[in-house]
Amino acid sequence: MTQNILSQLETAINNSNYTVALCGSGCLKECGLYELKSQEHAYAIESKYGISPEYLYTSAYYSSRPKQFFDFYKNELLTPENPPSPTSIALAAMEKKEKLNFTITSNIFNFPQRAGCKNVINLHGHIYNNYCTTCGHNHSVEYIKNSDSIPLCEKCGRAIRPGVSFFGDMMDNALITKAIEEIEKSELLLLLGTTLRSEVFHHFLNHFNGHTLAIIHEDEDVSDKNADIVIYSQPKKVFHELGYI
Ligand SMILES: [Zn+2]
Repeated sequence: MTQNILSQLETAINNSNYTVALCGSGCLKECGLYELKSQEHAYAIESKYGISPEYLYTSAYYSSRPKQFFDFYKNELLTPENPPSPTSIALAAMEKKEKLNFTITSNIFNFPQRAGCKNVINLHGHIYNNYCTTCGHNHSVEYIKNSDSIPLCEKCGRAIRPGVSFFGDMMDNALITKAIEEIEKSELLLLLGTTLRSEVFHHFLNHFNGHTLAIIHEDEDVSDKNADIVIYSQPKKVFHELGYI
């Protein structure tokens, strides 16, 4: 990470009238978490549960094998300590200083909001929303964690569903529309821990008409050449250099 590229990014941030950040799996990786689909973890999960995350983390599995589903879900996704990530703390600081207008994340830990960002879309929902499929009552993560086996609604005793998108679930149309609107408005788009070929974000990126597309990601990708600024580093390190954390 050279000083030159950092000052280019800093200038882009300072000159932009509307900045949107997209947070991908790299924002998990930099704080020791991972995406279920990442190859190395998919293999580890398959060895542990005898079934791949592509089948485990689906509505069909949740409905047909709730006990096994919640064993997996509690062990793998409801980790004991889960403070907001450094990058999300930086995004909240940027938002407060009016250097960031909106954050769109595919991660399910609600980091940006928990760090203090106000304008956020959790494209895939988040683990803090656990609703009763019958009466709609919401339950805390602790309630899910502390339930013996299959968590049931404390009001009506029916099934609780984690408010996250499982693999193969349709994304909420209202969220997609809002995400597209935000990307269309942006002059500066920050891709944090993700690439232009991201499975989640690439559909949205066609709607970008702004002037600067910046990628901050550890892993190189062939599509990086289409960005204006590319920094091969963890987003948290870049934000630290820029003084946001
Ligand atoms: Zn209920």
